[in-house]
Amino acid sequence: MKPLEKWDNGKDLVLAGDVAGVVAPSSGEGIYYAMIGGQEAALATHSCLLSGNSKDLQLARKRFMSEHKTVFRVLEAMQNAY
Ligand SMILES: Cc1cc2nc3c(=O)[nH]c(=O)nc-3n(C[C@H](O)[C@H](O)[C@H](O)COP(=O)(O)OP(=O)(O)OC[C@H]3O[C@@H](n4cnc5c(N)ncnc54)[C@H](O)[C@@H]3O)c2cc1C
Repeated sequence: MKPLEKWDNGKDLVLAGDVAGVVAPSSGEGIYYAMIGGQEAALATHSCLLSGNSKDLQLARKRFMSEHKTVFRVLEAMQNAY
């Protein structure tokens, strides 16, 4: 219930969904975040294949967190409080 600091291995692997830690604290919801994360992982993989630059795999986490980090922070604070 906490997004991992890294979702890729800097080479040829990128995570999405539960295994990337994107299950919402407090509610335990993870289906939506797994689907969005899968989409972002696919886009990042596509970029990586086009550019040949494995750093593009980082885009999955970067793009996901820019959209959803506030929700995870707030729900984590709520979970910690109770
Ligand atoms: C009891 C329960 C209730 C939940 N209720 C909700 C809810 O109401 N709403 C909600 O949003 N979320 C809910 N969740 C969370 C949600 O189910 C998960 O966050 C979501 O399914 C994560 O999707 P995923 O694709 O990341 O992982 P998963 O759905 O776990 O998919 C991973 C898949 O990989 C397969 N796999 C594992 N190892 C290997 C391997 N070596 N080779 C090949 N395949 C492999 C597994 O069999 C599995 O099918 C609930 C979870 C549980 C346990």
